[in-house]
Amino acid sequence: MRHKVVEALRLLAPSDVAGVPKIRIGGPHDGGYVMLDCLRARAPVMSFGIGPSMTFDLDMAGRGHPVLMFDHTIERLPDSDDGCTWFREGIGHVPGGALPTLAEHMAKLPDGAKDPLLKLDVEGAEWDVLSHADPAVLARFSQIVIEFHDLAQLAEPAFNARALRALQALGAFAPIHVHANNFADLALVEGLMVADVMEVTYVRRDLVSLRPSATSYPTPLDSPCFAGAEDTLLWFFPFLPGSTEATLPADDNALSAPAIRHRPRIDPPDLWELRCDLAASLRMAARMGLHEGICNHFSAMLPGSANQFLVNRYGLAFAEATASSLLICDFDGNVLHGEGEPEATAFFIHARLHKSLPRARVALHTHMPYATALAMVEGEPLVWAGQSALKFLGRTVVDPDYNGLALDEAEGDRIAASMGDADIVFLRNHGVMVTGRTVAAAFDDLYYLERACEAQVLAMSTGRKLCPVPPEIAQHTATQMRGDTGSAALHLASLRRRLDREEPEYAR
Ligand SMILES: [Zn+2]
Repeated sequence: MRHKVVEALRLLAPSDVAGVPKIRIGGPHDGGYVMLDCLRARAPVMSFGIGPSMTFDLDMAGRGHPVLMFDHTIERLPDSDDGCTWFREGIGHVPGGALPTLAEHMAKLPDGAKDPLLKLDVEGAEWDVLSHADPAVLARFSQIVIEFHDLAQLAEPAFNARALRALQALGAFAPIHVHANNFADLALVEGLMVADVMEVTYVRRDLVSLRPSATSYPTPLDSPCFAGAEDTLLWFFPFLPGSTEATLPADDNALSAPAIRHRPRIDPPDLWELRCDLAASLRMAARMGLHEGICNHFSAMLPGSANQFLVNRYGLAFAEATASSLLICDFDGNVLHGEGEPEATAFFIHARLHKSLPRARVALHTHMPYATALAMVEGEPLVWAGQSALKFLGRTVVDPDYNGLALDEAEGDRIAASMGDADIVFLRNHGVMVTGRTVAAAFDDLYYLERACEAQVLAMSTGRKLCPVPPEIAQHTATQMRGDTGSAALHLASLRRRLDREEPEYAR
């Protein structure tokens, strides 16, 4: 969800305007707005939502602009109406509905009115006023000032979608000034500081020349809506993650404030944890000798995603893996994030496996030597003769059809089809695929599988006959082991602590 919040905030991030000064219209506190000082003479103003103060409207009227005011929730105007016309009407988004639409209200403008101005409060259903407005109707305005409410809800999917539609509908306009209403709170939304109520000034893009913002907000033209408290610093705006136009304010004593740094990556926190877990698994697999050259691959579905997964980059050995080097791929073979490509067989096997087996959130493929050795001999790879092996009783299958390198989707489909309820596939003449719901669970299995296979190969190498555990005891032990759901997570946590001390760069 974080990237959706960032997307909305980026649509609110202001640009600077070359060569046009700003002016403040209205009083010093709530109800005053900063605009560009390029208003067409006598351009009419449409002002929706009248607060306790109408200083903006009176100021506009005093400057010779006819002002049309709209509010159906008040009994009378809070002030005299010199130069203003009040309509006791609200605004809606359904043509012919109980509340007139923006286009219907615009019929009230004087004939031939050019470059009108719009002031709008956007709260609740008013978000839809923007997203349902005909772009040609919106584009008649030259400047728009909007007070957006409830931005602290941007992580709520339905609200986020509604807000994005509205903000995108303003595409012909650029935000050129922002101010947080300090009657409302700041909120931490998906780790990003968000002002719940924001005043944003827009100008139609064809009227001005825009530059990346180098402005710290608030500016000297701003003043707190609530006079009894400091104005809200919006110093974090130039630091939006992923912004390529990030510009540091020249003098901003808020720069020492912590928390939001420029990062090229836009990851929710749980995705970053997943990256670290997978990178740690790759590094530990290398230490334990489970890897082979640069040929093996680990993948993990993104949190909450049904079609995107992380996978290690082709060309990097497991020992070189870092959290940020892992690629995000989709099922169609696209690399959505990261530099480089996955290995071709990695894509064909892992994408198909994740797609056809949703429970396999994580899939680890290696040619680890002892398990691979047992995939090369006749019969069932594991005999149930050692305690570590019993962890896998009833959880393994053999895919007997080795077909050379997996360079099309059929290989992954066949492996997935062979799995049934199993978590682990011995790939005949090839290696193993270990799947699990979490990186911790899959890596724990990968590790113990190789240990079990190692012990069995050593036992077999004596040439003496193996003594299998009696079936009931084997089954009982396997059940006991399956009940222990916490140890895999503790195992990975312990491995990560070791890497934190000895090769902390895995988590970068
Ligand atoms: Zn392989």
